[in-house]
Amino acid sequence: LNSTLIQNLPPQNNHYDYIIVGAGAACLQLLMHWKSDPFFSDKKILILDPEIKKNNDRTWCFWSSLQDPCYLHYAYALQSSWKKVKMGTREEALTHLEYHCLPGSKAYEIMDVLIDSNSNLDRQYSFVEHWSEQEDCVLVKAGNQTFFCQHLFSTALNYSQLDLLRRKDLLKQSFFGWWIEADIPEEMRDTAILMDFEIPQEQKCQFVYFLPFQGGKALVELTRFGVEPIESNQAPLLLEQWLGTQGIKAWKILEVEMGSIPMSVDLGSQASQGKRVTSIGTAGGLIKPSTGYGFHRMHQHAQEITAQLKQSEEIGPPSSPSGRFKFYDQILLNLLVRKPQEGQRIFQSLFKKIPCERTLDFLEEKTSFQEEISILASLPFGLFVKSFFQVQGLKLKRFSSAGLFPWVLLLLTLCLCLGNNLAPDLFEPLGLALLIGGLVFPGIPHGAVDHLLGLKAIDHWRKWLAFVAGYLCIMAAVIALWLIAPILGLLGFLLYSAWHFGQTDMQQLGIYWGPFNMLQGYGVLAFLLGTHAEETENILRLMLSQPNFELSIPVAAALSLTGFLAMGIPAFFIAKDKAMEWVLLVATMVLASQLPLLMAFGIYFVGIHSVKSWMHLQKGLSFSFGKLLLYATPFTLGAFAVGLGLYWGLRKFDLPFDQWIPYLFLFLAAISAPHIFYMHKFYKTKEI
Ligand SMILES: Cc1cc2nc3c(=O)[nH]c(=O)nc-3n(C[C@H](O)[C@H](O)[C@H](O)COP(=O)(O)OP(=O)(O)OC[C@H]3O[C@@H](n4cnc5c(N)ncnc54)[C@H](O)[C@@H]3O)c2cc1C
Repeated sequence: LNSTLIQNLPPQNNHYDYIIVGAGAACLQLLMHWKSDPFFSDKKILILDPEIKKNNDRTWCFWSSLQDPCYLHYAYALQSSWKKVKMGTREEALTHLEYHCLPGSKAYEIMDVLIDSNSNLDRQYSFVEHWSEQEDCVLVKAGNQTFFCQHLFSTALNYSQLDLLRRKDLLKQSFFGWWIEADIPEEMRDTAILMDFEIPQEQKCQFVYFLPFQGGKALVELTRFGVEPIESNQAPLLLEQWLGTQGIKAWKILEVEMGSIPMSVDLGSQASQGKRVTSIGTAGGLIKPSTGYGFHRMHQHAQEITAQLKQSEEIGPPSSPSGRFKFYDQILLNLLVRKPQEGQRIFQSLFKKIPCERTLDFLEEKTSFQEEISILASLPFGLFVKSFFQVQGLKLKRFSSAGLFPWVLLLLTLCLCLGNNLAPDLFEPLGLALLIGGLVFPGIPHGAVDHLLGLKAIDHWRKWLAFVAGYLCIMAAVIALWLIAPILGLLGFLLYSAWHFGQTDMQQLGIYWGPFNMLQGYGVLAFLLGTHAEETENILRLMLSQPNFELSIPVAAALSLTGFLAMGIPAFFIAKDKAMEWVLLVATMVLASQLPLLMAFGIYFVGIHSVKSWMHLQKGLSFSFGKLLLYATPFTLGAFAVGLGLYWGLRKFDLPFDQWIPYLFLFLAAISAPHIFYMHKFYKTKEI
C-alpha cells in the first residue's frame, strides 16, 4: 500500500502509533513503562491477541535487589518474595537479592486494568496473520481487518524462528506444575526451592521447583531440559513422589500450569528487527537459553525501547552485557543435547561449590570474569572441555568446509611472497622448482587422460585412430590459425583458456551456468595479467613480434580491477558451504599478484586448476588415484617427450631465449585446445 496514500487519509480508527502483537509478559513490560509516562499519554496503542487470559497458565519468577526497577514496578502485585533459597543441597539466606514470584493470573489482571483505565489503549481479540513494513508505517492484517502503525512490537515468532522450533534436536525447557493447598512442613514454609535434582532422572535432566506461599498454598513444578518435553501423564507421578519425600502426604490441586520454551541461542539472532518492527519477549531472544528466565530481561528491554522511542532513535537490538555469556550458554546447551543425564552432576557440583547468590548473579549475567573463572572451575572439567571443542568444532566446520588444501596453498603463496621480498635469490629458484614439480604432477597429468573422456571404449584400434585423428585435427587448426593470424590465434587461446579455467572453478563452487565460466576465467586471467603489466607487455611484444607494443597503465588498471570484480561475482550465487573455498581462492589470487607472473600463474594453474581438475576426473570417472595416474602416465611421458623434442629443436637452431616465446605459446595453445574440448564434454555429461 502506498505510504503517501496512508498519510493523506484522515485519521481513522485503524491508525495507531504502536501496535503490540501478543498480550503476554513482554507486552505487560512495555505497558508498565508507558503507563505513567506523559510522552505516551497521547499515543494510540493497540494490543492484538486472540486469547482471553485470566488463569495461572504460567508464573513469572525473577530475582533482584529491592531497589531494582523491575521489583519496584511489581512489588504491590507479587504473590511472594523469598530471602531464603535452596539450590541443590545448598540452602542459604540471600544478602542483596530476593527471589520473587508474580503469578500469571495477577499479571493478566494488571494488564486488563491498565487497558480498561487508559483511553489511548485499545485491545482486539484477533490473531495477526501478517504484517509488512512500509516506508512510513507498518501494515498489520489481523482477522479480516487491516491496521496501520508507526511501530510494531511483536511477540509472535517469525518463519525462521518457527523453523528452528521444528528442528528435531532442539533443546526445550518443559514444565508441568501444580498450584496446591497442603499442610506444608514448618521448615519448608519460608524457603524457595529452586532446583532439586533428587528425583529420578530417567536419562534426562529434570528437577523440581517448590515455592511455598501464605495460607498453605504452594507451586510445585517439574522442569525438564531435554529434546523430548515432559509428558503430562508422567509428570504427576514424579511430583507425587517428590512431595511424598518432603513429608507432604495430602494436597488439593488448585490449578495446573504447563508449557515448553525453546532453549537456543539462535532464537535471538533470528529475531525480526526492522526500522519499524521490533521483536520482543521470547521472539526477541529475551529468554536466557540456559535457564528459561526472561521476565527481568524483558523489563530491561522495555526500558531501553522506551528511552529510544522518547529520543526518536531507531530501536536497536536488546543490549547484552557480554558475548561470553552466550558462549557459556552454547557450551552448556551443547552438552545437554548430547548428554542430558549429565545435567544433574553439572548443576549439583555448581551448587555444592558456589554460593547461591553468586550463582544467581552468574545466571543473570552480572558476574565479573574472575568470578566466572571460579564458577567454571567448579564444573566437571572434562565434560566442559569436550563440549567447548565441539562448539568450536561447529565453528571450525565453516572454515574447514573448503578442506585443508586451499589453506595450505594460501600459506605457501604467503611464504613465497614474503620470501620473494626478503630473499629473492633463494626464493626465485625455489618457486621455479615448485612450479616444475607441480607441472610434473598434477599440471601435465590432469591433461593426459583426455582419451578416457573422448573414447567410450578404449579397446578398439579404430576408435583410437578416430580419437587421435580428431585430437590432431584440433591441434592443427589452432596452429594454422596462429600462423595465418597470430592475433586471432592469441585471442582465441585466451578465450578458450578463460572458459576452461572458469569452468573448473565454477564446477567446484557448484555454479553451473555457462556465462559464469567465462566471467570467472576472465577474472583470473585479467587480474593476473593486469597486475603484472610490465611482464605482460614484454610477453606480448615477443609473441606478436612487435617490439614497440605498450600496455598502458589505464588498460592494466582496468584489467586488474575488472578481473577482481569478475572473480567477486560468484560470491552472490554461492552456496554457504562453498563460501570459504571461494574466499580462499580470491585471497590466494590476491597474494599471487605480488609474485612474478610465471610463479603467480603457476600457483593458479597447478595449485588451483590442475588439482581441482584431477579431483573432478577421479570423481566423475569413479577412478582411484592410482588408476587415474596409470592411465595418465603414457600421455604425460608423451607430453614430456614432445616438450623435450621442441627444446632440442630450438636449441639446434640456436634460437635466443626471447624468440622461443612465440613457439612456446603456440605449443601450449595447440595442446590445450583439444583438452579443453574434451573436458567441456566431460563436465557436461558427468556429475561432479
Ligand atoms: C510454564 C512457563 C513458566 C515460565 N516461568 C517463568 C518464570 O518463572 N520466570 C521467567 O522469567 N520466565 C518464565 N517463563 C518464560 C517466559 O518468561 C515466558 O514464556 C513469557 O511468557 C514469554 O513472554 P512473551 O511475551 O514472549 O510470550 P507470552 O507471554 O507467551 O505471550 C505471547 C502472546 O502472544 C500471542 N500471540 C502469538 N502469536 C500471535 C499472533 N500472530 N497474533 C496475535 N497474538 C499472538 C499469544 O496468544 C500469547 O498470548 C515461563 C514460561 C513458561 C511456558
